[in-house]
Amino acid sequence: MPSYRYFWWLCLGFSTFPVFGQGFKPPSPSSVLQYGRNIALILCSPEFDGRGYVNDGCSKAAKFIQEEFQRLGLSPFKGKHAQPFYLNVNTFPNKCIVRTKGKRIEPGIDYLVHPSSGDYRGILSLKKMSAAEIMQYRFGGSRSSKEAIAFVAEQKLSKDSLRMVRVKLEKIAQTDCAVIEFTREKLTWSISDQAFNFPYLQWRDTVQQKFPKRIRCTLDAELKNQIEVANCLGFIPSINPSDSLIVISAHYDHLGRMGKKTYFPGANDNASGVAMLLSLAREIMQKPLQHHSLLFVAFAGEEIGLKGSFNLVESGLLDLDKISLVLNLDILGSGEEGITVVNGSVFPEYFKQLVQLNESIPAVPLIKARGKAANSDHYPFSEKGVPSLFIYTMGPNKHYHDVFDRYENLSFDRFEALHYLFLRFLNRF
Ligand SMILES: [Zn+2]
Repeated sequence: MPSYRYFWWLCLGFSTFPVFGQGFKPPSPSSVLQYGRNIALILCSPEFDGRGYVNDGCSKAAKFIQEEFQRLGLSPFKGKHAQPFYLNVNTFPNKCIVRTKGKRIEPGIDYLVHPSSGDYRGILSLKKMSAAEIMQYRFGGSRSSKEAIAFVAEQKLSKDSLRMVRVKLEKIAQTDCAVIEFTREKLTWSISDQAFNFPYLQWRDTVQQKFPKRIRCTLDAELKNQIEVANCLGFIPSINPSDSLIVISAHYDHLGRMGKKTYFPGANDNASGVAMLLSLAREIMQKPLQHHSLLFVAFAGEEIGLKGSFNLVESGLLDLDKISLVLNLDILGSGEEGITVVNGSVFPEYFKQLVQLNESIPAVPLIKARGKAANSDHYPFSEKGVPSLFIYTMGPNKHYHDVFDRYENLSFDRFEALHYLFLRFLNRF
């Protein structure tokens, strides 16, 4: 449990949210690493519900970040602390229980609910089908609503065939009947803005030695329409008058809850990136850049299709021609094996500068360049021709979009070194 000193420091310094962490040492609030660790710990706590759409987790995180921007002294941007927008999302707010032979299996560990799954309460009889049978499946048959198609991927099935089978299974769950997919792959969750008519479960097939004939399923799903979320904005003007803007961004949303008891903390993805964004804002507030104003954006809706960044780019709030650089931070919690720069080969001059700076420190053992990829919030900017880099860390922590992407699994190995590398990089502009 946290000590009182830590608790009071949080209350006085950050917010009124209580924080729980096992074996966490109270830090002095001065260092970059300790500040970053605290931000990540707070954002990963159960009070923020995985920063999704159950219990307003996403809105609570937005409020925390906006308050922190203000506490650090950042200004609103064109009079706005936030840029609201609306999205649809399928949620699992209440029960999420699956039993076989009277035994409850673990949500998040033994099975996942497909992000677009419909709800269901009752017993499902499983009918096993091969990949070939599924590909030949005819829609519109008179299937019982208590029947589920069960698919166990054959060992010899190629990745492409498996992908095609999944697309077909999704169509079946959308229109015809329940689907249970037994998989040997790591369980990786995501989030969806649509809902099937029937339930769809992805089940680790190591759970069952014998194939179950029947399962009991209590699953509440709710498609929420047009809910309001917001990008958080904080501004630091340049010392000398300038209309050039550098945008530093990190998404704060994650996947939220899958039922009442299971949540996805999203520590590496992307509490760590928000921690880096805030640590940079905190430092640059003390010493603003000479010739560029800085806009810090904590994006909402990234996990549901880069909704926040597309909204900001399309909103007209930014003069895209005046943006000198977008530095997007997503997955910043390790770095033992270096960093990757998405768009590094699209904007080689910027990449070269970063590599040169790193050679003189060095902050990380390796900086890799990648090409264009629509995998985070830099993408809507670079599609409009704005120089944009997306940086993520690499290391032994491979937890991604699962219940193990927890604060405790972040090493923060290069957090402080990267913080100073980014500061030096920004000061070169
Ligand atoms: Zn992310």
